Amino acid sequence: MLSACKKHLDEKHYCPHCKELMSCCSTPPIHVGDGLGWGTEVYFICLNDDCRLYKDGWNYIEEKFGHIASYRYMLLPGNTEGTPMMVGSKDAFKGCIIDPESIKLQDERYAKEKEAVAQLDTCVADKNLAPVLLLVLDEGADRKNRERAADLLVELNDLTCIDPIRNHTFRDDNLAHRINMAIKQLLKINFKKECPDCSEIIKAQAKKCQHCGKEF
Ligand SMILES: [Zn+2]
Ligand SMILES: [Zn+2]
Repeated sequence: MLSACKKHLDEKHYCPHCKELMSCCSTPPIHVGDGLGWGTEVYFICLNDDCRLYKDGWNYIEEKFGHIASYRYMLLPGNTEGTPMMVGSKDAFKGCIIDPESIKLQDERYAKEKEAVAQLDTCVADKNLAPVLLLVLDEGADRKNRERAADLLVELNDLTCIDPIRNHTFRDDNLAHRINMAIKQLLKINFKKECPDCSEIIKAQAKKCQHCGKEF
């Protein structure tokens, strides 16, 4: 839903009342009245509590309208001039601040996921573990894509996948189990096992770990 307004995230607007950088917010999911015309998904608002407009607004509105409210300066994307918007509390609108940096990071993550998914069809033929590992380890990736990647681990037959997977904490128990089973199978077809003490991969028949000396 934010994709349509991404172009506005780089906009920088400064409040004419306090010269502070205005915050980028998502529009509230409520009907705010026809006069405002919220034909946008984001808007900019000055959330500076020391802003003149906001500080003086409380008295002004109380004298003029007799209720407890103030103004925050707000501006619609693509505009240079904004309007004062009435707020009923100090924290109004503070919950919907969008952090453009986070959105960009999220975007980059998504682009990498998409690229990796596109490579899944050919990764076994290409002996390319990278996209599979990226998806398996990306907690933000789509569950189905991660499962698909997990199911390719055995076919790829690349034991170097084990270390990064063992060093990762999976938030999803089912996925963790699925991947664990894949590793077990992978070790089995390669006649290997993991040393229970040092976790190094060793020969399945080994009587003693060559890394830590553990005897079986
Ligand atoms: Zn201001
Ligand atoms: Zn060992």
